[in-house]
Amino acid sequence: VFISFEGIDGSGKSTQARLLADWLEGQGRDVILTREPGGSPGAEEIRKLVLEGEPDRWSAETELLLFAAARRDHLERTIRPALAAGQVVICDRFADSTRMYQGLRSGDMRAKVDALHDLMIGHEPDLTLLIDMDPELGLGRALSRGTGEERFESFGSGLQARMRAGFLALAKEFPDRIAVIDGAQPVEDVAEAVQAVVAGRLG
Ligand code: C5P
Repeated sequence: VFISFEGIDGSGKSTQARLLADWLEGQGRDVILTREPGGSPGAEEIRKLVLEGEPDRWSAETELLLFAAARRDHLERTIRPALAAGQVVICDRFADSTRMYQGLRSGDMRAKVDALHDLMIGHEPDLTLLIDMDPELGLGRALSRGTGEERFESFGSGLQARMRAGFLALAKEFPDRIAVIDGAQPVEDVAEAVQAVVAGRLG
């Protein structure tokens, strides 16, 4: 089973991905927790290329190709082998993040994002948990965390507000795959809402 978490920066998705992994492991399931960009040695190298350095280091198109290259490596080296071994794969961000960030950041690149996805990735999670969060709240949390990788967070909450609306629209576009969870609740309540959705899917 392949589960992804999505949401704007500071939405709490990484915390929730970890809590879900712990919960499933507690039930005796074999779980792998991974993330994007990254999740394999090669993709982690590409993560550094896209997240460190000047925000305008790459053109929007080159950046899209780098994210796609990272995802392809992550799929080949980490995700597919884990799924083949019967593990539950929990991924912090996947292709929906590219539909939003690379798709919406510089004009409308969604058609290019989709074409590249169909050509080179062609794999979707079985279930996506969208942790929905007010951008002001999320931005404050992301900045206070300060990992030094938040190059896009410095673009301000205007971008994050567009991303939030985009993610919610995406949930309507893929209603069978994407479940929206209210991320403004206390962490434990968000975790319980996530568990309820996952339990419903895993049976
Ligand atoms: O999820 P995480 O905090 O690790 O993401 C790191 C940064 O990369 C964030 O600022 C996020 O907005 C950005 N990102 C992006 N495009 C993606 C995935 C992440 O711009 N496809």
